[in-house]
Amino acid sequence: MVEPHEINWQELSFAYTPTKYMFIARCGADQKWQEGEVVPYQDIPMSPAACVLNYGQGLFEGLKAFSGKDDKIYLFRPEENAMRISEGCERLCVPPLPVEIFLNGISEIARANREYVPPFREESFSQGSLYIRPVIWGTGPILGVAPAPSYTFVIFACPVGAYFKKGFQAIKLKVTTEYFRATKGGTGYIKAIGNYATGMLPAQIAKKEGFQEILYLDTKECKYIEEVGAANFFCYLNGTLVTPELDGRILPGITRSSILELAQKRLGLKVEERKVSLEEVFQSEEAFSTGTAAVVSPVGSIFYKGKEHLINGGEPGPLTKKLFEILVNIQHGFDPDHYGWSQEVCQR
Ligand SMILES: *Cc1c(COP(=O)(O)O)cnc(C)c1O
Repeated sequence: MVEPHEINWQELSFAYTPTKYMFIARCGADQKWQEGEVVPYQDIPMSPAACVLNYGQGLFEGLKAFSGKDDKIYLFRPEENAMRISEGCERLCVPPLPVEIFLNGISEIARANREYVPPFREESFSQGSLYIRPVIWGTGPILGVAPAPSYTFVIFACPVGAYFKKGFQAIKLKVTTEYFRATKGGTGYIKAIGNYATGMLPAQIAKKEGFQEILYLDTKECKYIEEVGAANFFCYLNGTLVTPELDGRILPGITRSSILELAQKRLGLKVEERKVSLEEVFQSEEAFSTGTAAVVSPVGSIFYKGKEHLINGGEPGPLTKKLFEILVNIQHGFDPDHYGWSQEVCQR
């Protein structure tokens, strides 16, 4: 276990560094969730017949705790994660986790591990954070394919460094017409654990070929953008910020909805949630992906059928950079939060 004082905050990456405490709550056959409690970080004993290990009945969330300029710790829109995991529970036949239990667990884990929250830094591109990972598993044993008889909710946390240590860098995407992420009626709109293992092979192939991420298309026409790996996609064309509409296949990202709101309210931009074709994207002035991990990642090029299409000459665009800064500045308390997004947890 790494002690907080042993951490070199400047050197932090995205590697997994466990912290001292985790949160745990259980749900038994009565379908009632316990309040839960903070316990020392530990392994979870489980039957080999656990539903999650055999049939993948599990789902997760991801959010961050930040140090503000005032040396207080803040969470960003945690109630959105609470509602999203609740919706996911319904789809996977998991007894819905009450929002209050989720929110209380997040605050408790941030508070218990507060020494692991990277300290505030003056430069917005170099901010680290405490990544918080809530996860629910069907841990009870079962042989037939059916919901587990009991469940476990765990929250663990890991300090992470800034994504763009060397400054804002554009990523290269590869379009795949061979692999797909989600289908109609499937689980693309929730963070079901089973959605992520299937993306590992295409991502691995793309990385070997020198790309950072996969750009997924729709299964039906193989023409419209869905997502970038495990992040949402945006492009800016003809003065409008456009992102694929939530059609049951797209994950409703909290960064996505925050960017949509900021683009309209702070920058007065026109925004559209609709089908976005690959052809349109090639004509875009700027493109980027959004997600909790990187916040905003500029897209520099898109490789499709043997051809590389540059976006904004392969460089991060000015609007992309602006949106990134506006959002990060709200998260770290540089800028006033007019939206009630930041939630104070405690003094660091
Ligand atoms: C988590 C996730 C996102 C981003 O959601 P945020 O709430 O912005 O972190 C986008 N796509 C997929 C597939 C995801 O799993």
